[in-house]
Amino acid sequence: MAQLIADRRDIDFVLYEQLKIEDILKTEKYNDLNRKMFDMVISEARNLGIKEIYPTYKEGDREGVKFENGQVTVPQCFQRAYALFAEGEWIAMAEDPEVGGQGFPWIIRQAAFEYIIGANFAIAGFGNLGHGAAKMIELFGTPKQKELFLKKVYSGEWGGTMMLTEPGAGSDVGALTTRAVKNPDGTYSISGNKIFITCGDHDLTENIIHPVLARIEGAPPGPKGISLFIVPKIWVNDDGSLAEPNDIVCSGVEEKMGLHGSPTCSMDLGGKGKCRGLLLGEENNGLMVMFHMMNEARLDVGAQGFLHASAAYLYAVNYARERLQGRAIEKGKDSTAPQVPIICHPDIRRMLLLMKAYVDGMRSFVLYVAYCFDKKSTAKTLQEKERYNDFIELLTPIIKAYCSERGQFVCEQAIQVYGGYGYTKEYPVEQLYRDCKITSIYEGTNGIQAMDLLGRKLGMKKGTVFLEFLNEIKAAIASAKKIPRLKDLAGRVETALNRLGEVAMHISKTAYSRNMKLAFAYAHPFLEVVGDVTMAWMLLWRATAAAPRLEKLAGSAEQEAIQSKAAKNKDAAFYDGQLKAAEFFITSLLPVTIGKMNAIAAPNPAAIDIHEKSFGG
Ligand SMILES: Cc1cc2nc3c(=O)[nH]c(=O)nc-3n(C[C@H](O)[C@H](O)[C@H](O)COP(=O)(O)OP(=O)(O)OC[C@H]3O[C@@H](n4cnc5c(N)ncnc54)[C@H](O)[C@@H]3O)c2cc1C
Repeated sequence: MAQLIADRRDIDFVLYEQLKIEDILKTEKYNDLNRKMFDMVISEARNLGIKEIYPTYKEGDREGVKFENGQVTVPQCFQRAYALFAEGEWIAMAEDPEVGGQGFPWIIRQAAFEYIIGANFAIAGFGNLGHGAAKMIELFGTPKQKELFLKKVYSGEWGGTMMLTEPGAGSDVGALTTRAVKNPDGTYSISGNKIFITCGDHDLTENIIHPVLARIEGAPPGPKGISLFIVPKIWVNDDGSLAEPNDIVCSGVEEKMGLHGSPTCSMDLGGKGKCRGLLLGEENNGLMVMFHMMNEARLDVGAQGFLHASAAYLYAVNYARERLQGRAIEKGKDSTAPQVPIICHPDIRRMLLLMKAYVDGMRSFVLYVAYCFDKKSTAKTLQEKERYNDFIELLTPIIKAYCSERGQFVCEQAIQVYGGYGYTKEYPVEQLYRDCKITSIYEGTNGIQAMDLLGRKLGMKKGTVFLEFLNEIKAAIASAKKIPRLKDLAGRVETALNRLGEVAMHISKTAYSRNMKLAFAYAHPFLEVVGDVTMAWMLLWRATAAAPRLEKLAGSAEQEAIQSKAAKNKDAAFYDGQLKAAEFFITSLLPVTIGKMNAIAAPNPAAIDIHEKSFGG
């Protein structure tokens, strides 16, 4: 097999040829780093992912999580893989050394994590949740809280979670009822029940630090009355030593469709009246603090969707090169013609290129957003910082929802490429498909993401953030137009972009009118078209970087010279793949997006008008 999990050549292409991240080495924050270090770190992550974490993927699925006598145990093979993940100091690799990090740019973390998330998200999730919990403590905690928890959680010695969901409070987080009562010593007594808590309990770490959303007695109803507490599984004394268990226990684990190695726990807090928590941030401001972790988690979930797709695509393309079936279509009915690998069949090539276009586009998108984090943290002016922050805010729901859905779609296509074998457990793609599904549900369902985009993000700063986003795409189109062979493609993206601008205005106006219900019935299609246009942008940008390099290698822009060079030269084949993916997406899929945009611009109210009884059943 050529490549597993992620295509290293493609990662390097995005980092150095598309985004040109070496610019970051000129900034004060990162000028003591160099490309060699970046490459080494990504290679190390690749080793860890492929050699140590990936072998746990299938085994973890088969063995699953166990809940016996009140104890949660993860698959045995996770123990060593997690220990290596934590000991390698991966979890906080992009944090400052003072808090236990290694000071790498976020984009390098994201590139390295392709091999960790992609190898087995059930394991990566332990570290990612710990990171999110620690980051909130770093940003909003008291000096004592930082001293007690930060390094232990950033290092992975202790785990972390995020505790929002309750039986009556899923998407509607504001409906939560877990209670907090202030004690004379300044701690809070916590009581309530949480459900669906990822990594809520397990045997990988000696302690788990739970950020718990709860309502302080007398707090206002709804989201404005929610506070956030640090609730350790084992209470931590002032000197950092461990005290007694903190009356927060797992009462069961879910039997799920996929992600079997990841414990999804129901948690009882304060069943014996002895669960204590420490306020994180200010009273009644818990959701604002928690949003910090949720936004980080949303980006990780988008990456999770994309990486299931990346792994599934690599499996499918390799399988298609090996599986012999059928004869070349041009041989007609000649039954003496030899069988060919299925990659020769036009329909399989269509599916593979479809998958490749999405995987490439999503990789660029995910790494681009990661780069926005670095641009923000190295910005020289407040204005620049704000600009990148706005971009991250705008793109968060899109990355979460679009990459999770396209990730699942690519996994489904991979099963199709495998045929019947893909539907069996003997091959890996059915597990990728099952495991990927959760990405469109947790961290705020995709329906909620779409409402966030339409209801909050589109109108941010009177729509100027969205306009700025369109301007970025315009700039990429202008660059592509300078390359003769990309002129037509660039023109097509421009047409789609202009239409997107009109549609955005239209749906935004409708959302603030008496017809708001109608607009929100189209919130998800709107998110989808923004995602499609983003894919077209990313693929065109890739083609703009690849075309001159390819022509140089082939010594000509003629298709014949390019094809013959691509057959012999790996780099030429790679660059040709960039152009073909862009051509395919922009000419075959973008017209469908324009159709979808037309439907959004002339919305039909059937979904709103239909009577509940008319749904039948
Ligand atoms: C495997 C797994 C792991 C999880 N991990 C965690 C975790 O670590 N921590 C945690 O706190 N939670 C976790 N969750 C919970 C997860 O975030 C919720 O399941 C999710 O937010 C949806 O809530 P719900 O299941 O109650 O569905 P509901 O809120 O009941 O939603 C059902 C449907 O209605 C739609 N809907 C609901 N409200 C609206 C609305 N106002 N407008 C339009 N549509 C709406 C939703 O989009 C969805 O399609 C996990 C869940 C699972 C399955």
